[in-house]
Amino acid sequence: MHPVEFEIDATDGSARAGTATTARGTYTTPLFMPVGTRGAIKYLSAVDYERIGAQIVLGNTYHLMLRPGADVIERFGGLGRFAGWDGLTLTDSGGFQVFSLDPKVDDDGVTFKSTYDGSTHRFTPEIAVDVQQRIGADIAMVLDVCPPLPNPPEVIRLALDRTTAWAERARRADTRPDQALFGIVQGGISETMRAESARQIVDIGFDGYAIGGLSVGETREEMLPALTAALEHLPTDRPRYLMGVGDPASLVEAVALGVDQFDCVMQTRLGRHGTALTSTGRFQAKAARNADLEEPLDPGCPCEVCARHSRGYIRHLLQVGEPTASRLLSIHNVAWTIDLMARMRAAITAGTFAELRSSVLDVWG
Ligand SMILES: [Zn+2]
Repeated sequence: MHPVEFEIDATDGSARAGTATTARGTYTTPLFMPVGTRGAIKYLSAVDYERIGAQIVLGNTYHLMLRPGADVIERFGGLGRFAGWDGLTLTDSGGFQVFSLDPKVDDDGVTFKSTYDGSTHRFTPEIAVDVQQRIGADIAMVLDVCPPLPNPPEVIRLALDRTTAWAERARRADTRPDQALFGIVQGGISETMRAESARQIVDIGFDGYAIGGLSVGETREEMLPALTAALEHLPTDRPRYLMGVGDPASLVEAVALGVDQFDCVMQTRLGRHGTALTSTGRFQAKAARNADLEEPLDPGCPCEVCARHSRGYIRHLLQVGEPTASRLLSIHNVAWTIDLMARMRAAITAGTFAELRSSVLDVWG
């Protein structure tokens, strides 16, 4: 018995519509998971997550272990209860964040400095599991080595080997039966190394499988073959998670290849900077031409912002620097993406995924 059971409800080509059952509840795929780095999606709270229809919200292990600390969150009964969120939660391992800080890496682990006070901290695969067990998300991730791209083959090779060795140690350290642990495939944009990493991680055996280290500087034309090479070696009966990818074209392409779940900060970051995702592409809400427009950001979007607010009003809020503008655009962008995933799920079920894919790529490709 895995802490996550995964059933495929429908397929269309390689695209899958699934239902995953965790110890605390179920989620349906394809799924977009918004990111609450430090315990909240920026400008939003758990009440918003419910209204938007989020199923899983991410937390960032690196930030949460430093502030407020895993022990504090544990005393509150875990990340979900701490944040007042009844839905599911997932924590990344902290590795991606740590490796972006240019840390000291050795075979045993990684030493890094806190961005809050400069204090020195040590991360090993065992510590990453322990911290995440105390933060208590429904899904935890192994500590991996995530090099930026491009990077020479020997750097990618070392990252791959350490990722496998660390995955074995994480698997042995995992003791929480009500928390799923996902392995992570590395290998840069090399199809050979992606396939090798996937075989090694699957041999260790995890509740689900993530593909990490993509969308870190490479083009989509480089990403998709590497992704394909990894997916070929992953079992069909486990969830597959493409980490840190959330632009509409990549979402629809990865779902077409058989990926089930995604996370990305793009939706909220764009929102804070005045950009809306719409069915006709990126929309700059601050443009002067919107000043008199009564239509919503996207007439086809089912979100609460589009049901209530005009382009003219949101443009005005941006113009005068009202924080509500960032909030409304963040809610819209996350809800719009969740709706895109729902449309993908419906299209897979109806056998019309190819049509939806080409219509999304016509706008976003
Ligand atoms: Zn909307």
